[in-house]
Amino acid sequence: MIYLLEDETFVELDDWQKVCKRASYLSNLNVANKKLEKIIGYYELPNKVSCGLSNCHTPHFKGYVVETDDGSETNIGHACGTKYFDVVFEQMSSDFINALEVAKARAFIHENKKNVFGFWQDVNALSVGKKNIRWAIDLYKKINDSEFIGLAAYRALRQMLAISSGNVINSRPPTQKEIELAQVSGQPIPQSVDIIVGFISYIEFLSPDNDLENIYEKQLRGSVQSLQDADPEKLSRTQMKPIVSGINSLKNNITKASELIEIARLFFTKENLSELLKGLKDNKNIGQADIRRYEEFIESL
Ligand SMILES: [Zn+2]
Repeated sequence: MIYLLEDETFVELDDWQKVCKRASYLSNLNVANKKLEKIIGYYELPNKVSCGLSNCHTPHFKGYVVETDDGSETNIGHACGTKYFDVVFEQMSSDFINALEVAKARAFIHENKKNVFGFWQDVNALSVGKKNIRWAIDLYKKINDSEFIGLAAYRALRQMLAISSGNVINSRPPTQKEIELAQVSGQPIPQSVDIIVGFISYIEFLSPDNDLENIYEKQLRGSVQSLQDADPEKLSRTQMKPIVSGINSLKNNITKASELIEIARLFFTKENLSELLKGLKDNKNIGQADIRRYEEFIESL
């Protein structure tokens, strides 16, 4: 990309030759006794171009187009700029990049504001129909609430998530045969033996990364709302940055949300989640009232 500042406006050029053909451009500029007047361009190119200073000519991918006090123009890398023009260059280049980024963000917001209606349609489509994103958010909140599903089920699901295993485990005392076997092989006698009594599919769905409410309300609806409300002429670079990245990520986030809704439909079923009951009911340490909460949650699905 090549940007030139012309009449206070940044113009994007598609061809490096257009810089070289400018009337005041010199591909071999002797910097002796010249001062830096201003920076008029910035470029990042797929192929290296040579620094325009007569005593350098180092090839580089990115740099600045500068104008000296006699009206000559050339291109230099950041190192040369600092070497020959010192702090003046440092200040001018950072001001230039900042102004360029502001201009790009403004142009991006202006351009994308035209699509706000389409963005709302794409985002709101997630909440249409049965078992939509709001349905998934509601269940995601409930299953992550120990008050709602009972402490025993909550803890068991957390434990399964922590080791990324859908296995529903129960413990029983070792049998006489297992005790003998341990003794014969010189192993310590097990206190208890774990057995798999059930399996919950898609346990990873419970990961905090899959917080659908955050994705939907903040990353999706929040980004479109910010774009709609934005007045780019009044916003700073820092204020525009999250709007630009939110809109740039919109498509990916909609895809991510759609995939999570699909998983939610497979995860939040009576068949899938009742597997955990097999573990809870066999455990004598868990109260009936606690189990009942989880049963009620499953029945509501
Ligand atoms: Zn150079």
